[in-house]
Amino acid sequence: MDSLGIDQIQINKVPADTEYYDVMNGSHRWEVKVHDHGKVALVDSMPRLAPVGQTADFAIVQAARVSYGAGTKKVTEDKGLIRYLYRHQHTSPFEMIEFKFHCVMPVFIARQWIRHRTANVNEYSARYSVMPDKFYHPSAEDVRKQSTSNRQGGEDATDTKTAQEFLDYLDQVEANYKTYSELLDKGVSRELARIGLPVSVYTEWYWKIDLHNLFHFLRLRMDSHSQKEIRDYANTIFALIRPIVPVACEAFIDYAFESIKLTRLEIEAIRSGKPLNTANKRETEEWEAKRKQLGLPEPVKVEQTQPSSTEQA
Ligand SMILES: Cc1cc2nc3c(=O)[nH]c(=O)nc-3n(C[C@H](O)[C@H](O)[C@H](O)COP(=O)(O)OP(=O)(O)OC[C@H]3O[C@@H](n4cnc5c(N)ncnc54)[C@H](O)[C@@H]3O)c2cc1C
Repeated sequence: MDSLGIDQIQINKVPADTEYYDVMNGSHRWEVKVHDHGKVALVDSMPRLAPVGQTADFAIVQAARVSYGAGTKKVTEDKGLIRYLYRHQHTSPFEMIEFKFHCVMPVFIARQWIRHRTANVNEYSARYSVMPDKFYHPSAEDVRKQSTSNRQGGEDATDTKTAQEFLDYLDQVEANYKTYSELLDKGVSRELARIGLPVSVYTEWYWKIDLHNLFHFLRLRMDSHSQKEIRDYANTIFALIRPIVPVACEAFIDYAFESIKLTRLEIEAIRSGKPLNTANKRETEEWEAKRKQLGLPEPVKVEQTQPSSTEQA
């Protein structure tokens, strides 16, 4: 016996009463290329085994029903429960599912991505290892103009000449890689030599996150307000998890991603048919976009009546 008495612990290994299958079909990696040098690979899932005839969504239901020990019921009832939980933001059962990804992306994308604090991350160390000679380099047709409506965004392709100037500029900064290599050869530390590389250089990490927090990430980063390059990664992640948790993904699309949040003022505007009761230009523009999306008629224009002579007096 060891000093902790651990070898005395009796483990009750209950035999499976249901047949289970591997939700990743026995694969250790589902990999998708993103842009020229990037990728997202799903490397593990929890649960990894699901009862035959169900998807990994079962783990959400299993957790939600624990309070009264009913176990899982019919697939249709389970679907209804998952959708109910999602609609009512009963989020903890979604945290029972986890995914682990291996992601390769440019540093400027990693900076946006790392702001999502609810994941576990282990990143490539450019102090320990040499940075790869790989850079995000869009094609000429992907060079976007500054958006006029969104100060943070880009839209439509720029003209060919300007696109070429931009690509020449990227060529120049990428050429710094040669100097980086030479300085490493001369003994400059990796932790310092890397600081002259552009943010288009590639890094990589393992990223593990539960489904509740992953949906939060996807809602923000699949959205059109996010930068296109991180959106490409978010869409890839969604495509990877969708076959594993199809019911939860459908609820996410229906109740979060493609839903519209209405403010009190917007509800009032719908009820009254009048313009939004605010002088705030941006809020009004946001409402206009939602109104069009909802197919609602234009608000009734309030006519300015001429004051009568007695009123003028
Ligand atoms: C289109 C877009 C533009 C952006 N622009 C900018 C910008 O200009 N500048 C900038 O700095 N950032 C910017 N961000 C990043 C943004 O402000 C968030 O930091 C990022 O989206 C992560 O969101 P989060 O904190 O909700 O996510 P997570 O870190 O994943 O957190 C998930 C949720 O957990 C809770 N939570 C986590 N940690 C804490 C905590 N410490 N305290 C309280 N609650 C916590 C919150 O409810 C949070 O919503 C932008 C993001 C988007 C999508």
